[in-house]
Amino acid sequence: MAGERIVILGGGESGTGAAILASKKGYEVFLSDAGILADKYRKFISASGIEFEEGVHTLDKILNASLVVKSPGISPESATVKALTEKNIPVISEIEFAYRHTNAKIIGITGTNGKTTTTALTHHILKKAGLNAGLAGNIGKSFALSVAENEHDYYVLELSSFQLDDMDTFSPHIAVLLNITPDHLDRYGTLDRYIDSKFRISLHQKENDHFIFWSDDQAINRGLKRHTVKSSLHSFSEICTSSSAVCIENNQIIFNHRKQNQQEKQTLMSIFDLALRGKHNLYNSMAASVAAKILDIKNEVIRESLSDFQSVEHRLERVNIVHGIEFINDSKATNVNSVWYALESMQKPVIWIAGGVDKGNDYTILNDLVKQKVKAIICLGTDNRKIHKAFKSIVQDITDASSAMEAVQIAYAKGKKGDAVLLSPACASFDLFKSYEDRGWQFKEAVRSL
Ligand code: ADP
Repeated sequence: MAGERIVILGGGESGTGAAILASKKGYEVFLSDAGILADKYRKFISASGIEFEEGVHTLDKILNASLVVKSPGISPESATVKALTEKNIPVISEIEFAYRHTNAKIIGITGTNGKTTTTALTHHILKKAGLNAGLAGNIGKSFALSVAENEHDYYVLELSSFQLDDMDTFSPHIAVLLNITPDHLDRYGTLDRYIDSKFRISLHQKENDHFIFWSDDQAINRGLKRHTVKSSLHSFSEICTSSSAVCIENNQIIFNHRKQNQQEKQTLMSIFDLALRGKHNLYNSMAASVAAKILDIKNEVIRESLSDFQSVEHRLERVNIVHGIEFINDSKATNVNSVWYALESMQKPVIWIAGGVDKGNDYTILNDLVKQKVKAIICLGTDNRKIHKAFKSIVQDITDASSAMEAVQIAYAKGKKGDAVLLSPACASFDLFKSYEDRGWQFKEAVRSL
């Protein structure tokens, strides 16, 4: 392919990585971003001698490509992508592009929630087992940059449905589908189309590949009826059935093998020894342990890794205990489903900080847990009417705050020894913060200043 012209649309983390890899592979590379590049990417691209433009897409320089790599954030409906499609120029994602240039074994992880946690957890197990494993996708460095700079034998990749949409040949040796709950319906229109997008992770898998999924998830089961998965199926579930690969019995995680038509059970560990709290993390831990098992990693290594894993920042992250009040940062919980799991995992009376940009949330699924566990709500958003309306008949104490500092100070004033203050917003952060990370950092900063 060397000498062919490749155009990269979008110069963020993935576009920059793709440009570097393409240049290293000898393509003629042109990067085009309709917005302004971040300084670090501009410097990196210039230093690599790659031609680029920003603030504009010059079609003459784009429509002469033989291949285009598009950032996941650029809509397939955009004028530039439409023009490319009309000219039959193939448009792929950075993940697909990097995949074409590596022989590494891939473990691909997708789902509506839990991707980052499960990807980091699986990577942690592989590293502990001594495998030369990289971590990429939506997490950390881009996959393409990692392949360009320091190729690994294994990659654990976090994959969003947007990334899966622009894949033609990508096929992980092990695919993990954690869960599917309605999300991004603005882009997909129907739940079935969103399910189909998630199932693309298994689309090109062969018989000797593996597909790990949560068998109690209705949408996944609906997807399994719509799609023929060719690889070996491994399900995880809380309830042990003959078909589960891993499940729970008497609070123990059990591997359930089928060997020459014989069922063989192995106890991995007690659920109380898992480093990560909450039912959702039990599922994430089960999913990661099946992936490790398929790679023949010893139970002992899996057990140790699941018990010493440090939680990922902004996901039920314990920040501090101040005068007996525990502060927990779950800023990444940007939908109601993640908040459900966060509340479910709480063992103490909760002062719940919620709110932000509501994406059409239906809060009713939280009612029971809020009734049982929440003593006060602090709304952290510019428009908190929906939260007041949803919970005013259940929780008497609801106040508004307009900064992380104010929210933390109110929570601290209301808190008693033995309470937990949980930032788990169910909403996006863009009304008061730059991102969910910014919200989490400001929260932590405020807690540290108490
Ligand atoms: P993603 O990368 O898919 O957004 P994260 O691991 O970053 O997932 O977690 C996002 C949020 O979802 C966090 O608030 C976390 O506590 C919650 N969460 C994690 N795993 C799950 C799961 N399996 N099911 C539901 N919620 C989850």
